[in-house]
Amino acid sequence: MHDLYIIKLGGSVITEKEGNRFEVKREAIARISAEVKKALDEKEFSLIVVHGAGPFGHTNVTEYGINDGVFDEKQKEGYEKTGKDCSFLDSVVVEELKKAGIEAVSFDPNGIVKQDERKIVEVETEGVEKALEEGKIPVLFGQMVPDKKLNFSVMSGDAVIGFLAKKLKAKKVFLGTDVAGIFEEDPKKNPDAKRIEVIDKGTFGEIVKRVGEAGTVDVTGGMKGKLEKMKAMLKGTTAVIFDANKEGNFYKALVGENVEGTEIRL
Ligand code: ATP
Repeated sequence: MHDLYIIKLGGSVITEKEGNRFEVKREAIARISAEVKKALDEKEFSLIVVHGAGPFGHTNVTEYGINDGVFDEKQKEGYEKTGKDCSFLDSVVVEELKKAGIEAVSFDPNGIVKQDERKIVEVETEGVEKALEEGKIPVLFGQMVPDKKLNFSVMSGDAVIGFLAKKLKAKKVFLGTDVAGIFEEDPKKNPDAKRIEVIDKGTFGEIVKRVGEAGTVDVTGGMKGKLEKMKAMLKGTTAVIFDANKEGNFYKALVGENVEGTEIRL
């Protein structure tokens, strides 16, 4: 197998997360899919695509009160709706990837991931590995998954990236979001905030204290949650966070060109 890269299409990029609307940004997905295809045509690498859920996950989970488990009837209804909505979003992502000529194959995390109190304890990766061997592009996404204590809980795309990166020895992780990396303060609240170029073992603790959660509805902790999930699992794999709304950034990242963003080396 070639070097393995994992990319994340942030919920803030592919949905109307900021306006908190259940809408898919199909054009953004199509543009990114074309960038990924161009990179795949020019360079040999294996690839896993992970995407966030935006309101399809976060807002449903908040509305139905299922962040602490699924027990009563209303929560069961919320679990089903969230699962269905996240799968719908995934179907659009996969459709656009395929339209761009990418052999995408979806793996619903609900069937292959197990959690224990919101933490991933197991991912059955046989199917994903087989798909990679066949030159296909596995697609996973933020989704509700079985949980040992909570019946079902939210699994964020960021967490499964960390797990897969470690287990499948990914070479690099590229996280596309709607800001140009990690800043000293939320750049949406303070446009003058300074971008942090590199986060490493030495600076991680201090930076994570300063970084905020997402300003949007986000049950998995926004940027802070993202960093914590990286820390837990991203040992040895470099991750780069950048603005995926900026045309060309995904292409550049994948072919190894410099992209303005934050590099995380833990
Ligand atoms: P999802 O998790 O739904 O896939 P995503 O990966 O695109 O979404 P978010 O979890 O929404 O990303 O996190 C990005 C948001 O984090 C930005 O829109 C920004 O407003 C917010 N944020 C808070 N603090 C910071 C910070 N210090 N630096 C950068 N972004 C920050």
